[in-house]
Amino acid sequence: MDNLKLAELLFGSIDKTPEYYEELFPARGLKEGARVTRFAPSPTGFLHFGNLFSCLVAYKTAKSTDGVFYVRVEDTDQKRKVEGAIEVMLKGLSVYGIVPDEGVIGEGEEKGVYGPYYQRQRKEIYQAFAKRLVEQGLAYPCFMSAEELDEIRATQENESIKGIWGKYAKHRDLSYEEIERRINNGESWTLRLKSPGSLEGKCFFDDMIKGKIEMPENVQDVVLLKSDGIPTYHFAHAIDDHLMRTTHVTRGDEWIASTPIHLQLFRVLGFKPPKYAHIAPIMKEEDGGKRKLSKRKDPEAAVTYYAEQGYPSESVNEYMLTLANSNFEDWRRMNQNEDIEKFPFNLKKMSVSGALFDMAKLNDVSKNVICKMSAEKVFSLSYEWAKEYNAELASLYEKDTARATAILNIDRENKKPRKDIAKWSDIPEYLSYMYDETFTPCYELTGNATPALAVKVIEKYIDTVNLNDTKDEWFERIKGMCEGVGCTPNVKEYKAEPEKFEGHVGDVSTIIRVALTGRTNTPDLYEITALLGEKTVKERLEKALDYYREA
Ligand code: GLU
Repeated sequence: MDNLKLAELLFGSIDKTPEYYEELFPARGLKEGARVTRFAPSPTGFLHFGNLFSCLVAYKTAKSTDGVFYVRVEDTDQKRKVEGAIEVMLKGLSVYGIVPDEGVIGEGEEKGVYGPYYQRQRKEIYQAFAKRLVEQGLAYPCFMSAEELDEIRATQENESIKGIWGKYAKHRDLSYEEIERRINNGESWTLRLKSPGSLEGKCFFDDMIKGKIEMPENVQDVVLLKSDGIPTYHFAHAIDDHLMRTTHVTRGDEWIASTPIHLQLFRVLGFKPPKYAHIAPIMKEEDGGKRKLSKRKDPEAAVTYYAEQGYPSESVNEYMLTLANSNFEDWRRMNQNEDIEKFPFNLKKMSVSGALFDMAKLNDVSKNVICKMSAEKVFSLSYEWAKEYNAELASLYEKDTARATAILNIDRENKKPRKDIAKWSDIPEYLSYMYDETFTPCYELTGNATPALAVKVIEKYIDTVNLNDTKDEWFERIKGMCEGVGCTPNVKEYKAEPEKFEGHVGDVSTIIRVALTGRTNTPDLYEITALLGEKTVKERLEKALDYYREA
C-alpha cells in the first residue's frame, strides 16, 4: 500500500504539516518548573461544583508555579452545545477568582498565541496530524456502517475487550483501490488509529494524584476523526494539549479508563505525554454509603446554588481547599489570618477516592470566614446579594443603611466574634427582630423565668430603662433591679441557696431579652436595646407585659 498516495486521497486539501504547527506553537518560554494547565469544558452551560473544584485545582497548580492556566472549549459535539454557555461558565468561575490567563476569556473572545481555543476552529490542525498518521501507516479509513458497528457491539457483550480490534477491524487492510472505489461511491468514512498495541502489552503511568497505575495496553482502533472530519475527544485533546504546551492534565478520574488510548496516541504522534492528575469526584454520604454528588439529586451540585444561597466566594474557596488538600485545615489553624493564596497547594495531597461534601462543614467554614469580616463588608456583600435574591432584606437595609451596618456590627470586630451567619440568606432571620416589619413576638421563657416574675421585671424595667446608658450603667441598672423582684444579682449566691430566690440576674435579662427580641439567645442585648430605640423598646415591653399579665 502506498501510504502517501492514500494520505493524498483522504486529505488532498491539507497542505500544512505537523512541522508547520510545531513551529507556529513553540515551547513556552516559562521558567523551569512552571506548570501549564487547562479547563476544557464542553459548552453545556451547566457549571457543576465538580467543574469548579477541578478548575480550582488546575488554577492553583498553574499559579503556584508561575505557570499558565488557560480555557479551551471542547465543542466537537454540536448536539450538546448551548448558546451563551461559555459566558455563563466563565462568569461562574470568575466569582471564585478563577480567571484564565489565556484561551477563551469570553463568548467568542480569545486571548493568547496558542489558539484558536475552540476545537471546532482547529479542524485543519487535526487533519494535518491525521494525514501524517496515514502517511506513516498508523491510521486508516473505516467504512463500517452504524448497523455493522451495532452488530459487533452486540456480539461483544460478554467479551472483555470491546470495540474495533483484531478480527473486528475489518477495514484495517483494505487495498488502495478498494478505498478509492468506496470514496468515489460516496461512502462515508471515519479515520481510525491502527493501534500498535498488543494483548500482552502493558501501559504504565504515574498519576500525580492516584500514584502508579498499570493497565492493559490499548489495542482498539479508536476513531480519530468522525465522518464529518471532526475529531473525537481522544484525538483532539492529544493534539491540543501538545500544541498548547500543556504540562499537567487535571481532569475527572472517569478518564483513567481511556488513558492507555491517550498515551498510545501521544506515542504514535511523537509527542511527549503530559503529566496526568486524575481527580476523584466529590462524594455525598447517603444511607450509610457514598455516591457521587449528583446534578439531579443535589442542589449544591450546581455552582449557582452558592450564589443563590449567598455563600461568599471566600467561604466557598476556603471550603474547596478543605476538600482538595488534607493538610489545609492544619495550615489554617496555624495561619488564621493569612491570605488563602499563601497556602502551598499540592496535587499529591488530594484525595484518591473522592472527598466528601459536607454541608455542615461548609457552613462552619463559612461562619468562620464571615465572623472575621468587618460590618461594612458584611453589609455591602449581603446588600449586593439581597438586591438580586431577597428584595425584602434589600428594602429593610435601604431604610437606614448606617443602622443596618450597626446591627451587623453587634458582637463583631472583636476578639471573639459571634458565628451566627453562614450565608447571606441567614441574615433575614438573624436580624428579623431588629425591624418592626419582621419582628414576630414569642413570649416563651426558660430557666427560672416565669410569667409572674416577668410581670414584676418588666414593670420595673419600663420605668428605669434609659437608652443613654453606657453598657456598664445599663448592666448595673439590671443588677440593681434584682432584689426588688425577689432575685439576686449574683449567680453564685443563687446556686448556693436557690430556695431563697425567685431567680438570678440571668433570668432577669432573659425576660427582657425575650420581650424585646422574641428569643432567648441573641447577640449583645445592650447594643440591641440601643439600636431598637426608645419607642420600639417601650412598645415591645408594654406588649410583653400585657401578655404575661394575662398568662
Ligand atoms: N471536555 C472534556 C469534558 O468535559 C474535558 C476532559 C479534559 O479535561 O480533558 O469532560
